[in-house]
Amino acid sequence: MARNATERKDPHYTCVGIGVGPANLSLASLLHGHRGVRNIFFEKKAEFGWHEGQQIPGTSLQVSLFKDLVTLAEPTNPFSFLAYLHDQGKIYHFLNAQFDALPRQEFRNYMRWASERNPNIAFGEEVRSVGFDTEFVVRTNRRTVRADNLAVGVGTRPWLPPQASASARTQFHVNDFVRRDGALGGKRVCVVGGGQSGAEAVLDLLSRTGTQMPRRVTWVSRRANFFPIDDSPFTNDFYMPCHSEHFFRQERSVREAFNHDMVLSSDGISESTLREIYQRLYVLRFVQEATDRFALYPNRSVEAVAGADARGWELSLAHHDQPDQQELVDADVVVWATGFRPADMSFLHPLAGRLEHEGEELRVDDGYAVRWDGPAERKIFVQNATRGQRGLADPNLSLNAYRSQRIADRLRGTRSDEQRPSFIEWSAKTPAEASWAA
Ligand SMILES: Cc1cc2nc3c(=O)[nH]c(=O)nc-3n(C[C@H](O)[C@H](O)[C@H](O)COP(=O)(O)OP(=O)(O)OC[C@H]3O[C@@H](n4cnc5c(N)ncnc54)[C@H](O)[C@@H]3O)c2cc1C
Repeated sequence: MARNATERKDPHYTCVGIGVGPANLSLASLLHGHRGVRNIFFEKKAEFGWHEGQQIPGTSLQVSLFKDLVTLAEPTNPFSFLAYLHDQGKIYHFLNAQFDALPRQEFRNYMRWASERNPNIAFGEEVRSVGFDTEFVVRTNRRTVRADNLAVGVGTRPWLPPQASASARTQFHVNDFVRRDGALGGKRVCVVGGGQSGAEAVLDLLSRTGTQMPRRVTWVSRRANFFPIDDSPFTNDFYMPCHSEHFFRQERSVREAFNHDMVLSSDGISESTLREIYQRLYVLRFVQEATDRFALYPNRSVEAVAGADARGWELSLAHHDQPDQQELVDADVVVWATGFRPADMSFLHPLAGRLEHEGEELRVDDGYAVRWDGPAERKIFVQNATRGQRGLADPNLSLNAYRSQRIADRLRGTRSDEQRPSFIEWSAKTPAEASWAA
C-alpha cells in the first residue's frame, strides 16, 4: 500500500544522488545551500578519490581548469577551483607556477576539498537497490531513504578485452597501474592501447631509471598511429552546450557516425605527452644508444595472448594492412589500457522493466532524465551514461557543470540563462533563417 507523507518513517529527500565522482559532485555543489531541494549523495568509497590507480605523478588535466565543478555554469559558486585556491591561501603561488596544464593530482585535491565541505555527501555508503512506490526507496549498506528524484552518477568501470586474462598476476588494467607498477623493473612490459591512459603508462615506464627501469617497453595500438587529441578552437565547439543539444536531436545513425569519426577530439593523446614520449625515445635510442628498450606497434590488434604468469606472455598481433603477417611480442607483464565501460547499475533492477533503453543505454529526455513509465514528476537523472545520446562530451569534464545545472534547474523549477551559441551553425537553416543571417 502506498504511504503518504505523514506515514513516512524513512528520511525523505527531493534528490538522492548515487555515486560521487566529478559528475555528481558538480550537482551536489550546485545544489548546496538551496534549501528547497533537500538532497543527499551517497558514495561507496570511504573518501573522495578520482581514478586513484592512474594518478601517475606528472600527469595533467586534458581540459581547461575552468572546466571545474561549477565555473562554466555558475562562476560565483563557492565550490570553484579559484575558490579552492583562495581558501587554501595559494592563489598567488598557483598563478606564478604558470602550469601549462593543471596537475591531475591537484584537480583531485580540489574535488576532495569540495566534497569535504559539503555536508550532503555521505561516504562509505553503497547504494544496493532502488525501489518505487509513490517515491523512490533507496537502500544503502547502512540505511533506507526516500526520494522524489534520483541522480545516478556512478561513472565507468575498467574494460578488459576477451584476450586478456583478468585473473593473471602479470596482466592488469591500466586503472591499477599505480598499485601494480612497483614490480616492473627489469621486465618486458607490453602496454596495449593508444589513448591517453596508455600513453601515460608508456611515458612513465620509459622515464624510469636504475632498478625500476623495465627491460623493454612495447606499445601496441589499434589506431594507425599514436594520434593527438584535437584541442583546436573549432573542434572544441563540439564541447559547448549548443552542440550537445544539436547532437541530441540527431538520428541515432548520425550520432553513432559522429562519435566514431570525431573520437580523437576527446580520446586522443595530449600533444605534450606525445612530445615527452618522443623525446624520451630519442634519448634512449641516440644518446644512451640503448638498442632494445622499446618497440612501437600501431595499426595492430592483439588477437590472442598465450602463456602464464611464471613463464611470461606471447601476444599475437594482427597488422591491419597486412592481415596475413602474424607478429609475436614477448612480455612478462601486459598492461591493458583498453578503456572503460559504463559502471554497474544493478541497483536499478527493481525498476528494470519500467525504464526505456536505446541500445545498451538508458533512454533520456532532453534534460538527462530517463524515460520511464512512472509519474512525470519523479525523475531518474543519469550523468555520464549516455554517450550515444549526448555525444563525446558526456564522459568528460567539459559539460559537467552544464549538465548538472540543467538537472539542478529541473529540481528547482528554474531555468538558468544559456551562454551564446557557437559561431558555427550546427543545424540546417530554413531559407527564411538563412536570409535573416545574411
Ligand atoms: C585517468 C583518467 C583521467 C581523466 N582525465 C580527464 C581529463 O583530464 N579531462 C576530462 O575531461 N576528462 C577526463 N577523464 C574522464 C572523466 O572526467 C572521468 O572519467 C570522470 O571521473 C567521470 O566522472 P563521473 O562522476 O561520471 O564518474 P567517476 O569518477 O567514475 O565516479 C563515480 C563514482 O560513483 C561511485 N559509485 C559507483 N557505484 C556506486 C554505488 N552503487 N553506490 C555509491 N557509489 C557508487 C564510485 O565509487 C565513484 O566514486 C579522465 C578519466 C580517467 C580514467
